[in-house]
Amino acid sequence: MTRLSEQVKASVSLRRLAERAGVAWDPRKSAPRRGDWWAPCPFHAERSASFHVLEPAGAGGFFKCFGCGRKGSAIDFVIEAEGVPVREALRRLASSAGIDREDTAAAARRAEAHARARAAAEAEDAERAARGLEAARWIWRQTEPAGPLLESYLAARGVDLAAIGGVPASLRFAPALEHWAHGADTRRARPLHVGPAMVAAIGRGALVGVHRTWIAAEGRARLPDGAKVGKKMIGRTGAIFGAPVRLSTSRLGVVVGEGIETTLAAWSALVRAGLGGRWGAEAALSLGALAGPGDPRGKGPAGPDGYPLPSPRPDLGARVPHWLPAEGVRAALILGEGSAKGGGEAARRFAERARAKLAARGFEAEVRVPGGRWDLEADFADLAAAEAARVAPER
Ligand SMILES: [Zn+2]
Repeated sequence: MTRLSEQVKASVSLRRLAERAGVAWDPRKSAPRRGDWWAPCPFHAERSASFHVLEPAGAGGFFKCFGCGRKGSAIDFVIEAEGVPVREALRRLASSAGIDREDTAAAARRAEAHARARAAAEAEDAERAARGLEAARWIWRQTEPAGPLLESYLAARGVDLAAIGGVPASLRFAPALEHWAHGADTRRARPLHVGPAMVAAIGRGALVGVHRTWIAAEGRARLPDGAKVGKKMIGRTGAIFGAPVRLSTSRLGVVVGEGIETTLAAWSALVRAGLGGRWGAEAALSLGALAGPGDPRGKGPAGPDGYPLPSPRPDLGARVPHWLPAEGVRAALILGEGSAKGGGEAARRFAERARAKLAARGFEAEVRVPGGRWDLEADFADLAAAEAARVAPER
């Protein structure tokens, strides 16, 4: 069994397996001649290419997702992608590779080479994670306390700073932060954009990463062609997915959304309505981290409302990082953001999955959408008013 699994891992091309499963490599980030492949992850929702396959020999590759943390061999890929147990994944791969009887000596040689390649891949991953954290710490050290520009940016995004006593300590200001584009573009001679930015600390205790938003007084900073300068995240890979930007310490409950600005706007509205003692606030930074592990293609079993339920495999939840409320918090208000990428329908699916995930773990969880409309970007004043009316009888 073990020898067979090593033989299968060494003989199968993980790259081709991933391609057959619909993975589309990012040509700007991949280096085919080195067997270095990058794509949007097939196991968690994302638009960037965090899914890495290293397969210089044309077979025997490894994958690692720097977003959701899933990693492993061709066998692990089949287990994740097809939701089958290890024995079945092995049987499928062995039969498609035509391996029924093993040649013992050849198998041992391949297994040895495979073990060496795995150790090298793991060392490379660990080094990448350490570099990410170091870069995040360096950026954080360049920041200063929030000033008038960051305050006017947040006010323009609907945040009532007076109500919450100013900009939270987790948000700081960098007067001239460089923005280098993704992938192959990182070999550019000069940055794509340099300008003022909001830098957010990721992590509840120690810093595990930083999130950057390039800003102007009236909104997001823009490139000469009018496009918004993209937000960026860097930190200890594997640890930043699911770690929040903490906007206020949670007490009884936490208001959680994807974005820093919307979450802060909603929380400031709740504080203004006199509910600050009840709700803290965190930005989860990614809809995938908020929704948690589930069938990535939405093919999982549907709940009563027709939306996929969280994964029935408990091991997945334990192994894959995702956002959960801080220790001691029992309730969560999940902010639906109608303006989310992918439209209102995608936002609704993610929010509903997040609610189901938390409910299954015993949290009191509800989804709130501004104005009850998934196709609108509205402010959260009505949410605060409704929440105030709901809790009033308990006072
Ligand atoms: Zn992933």
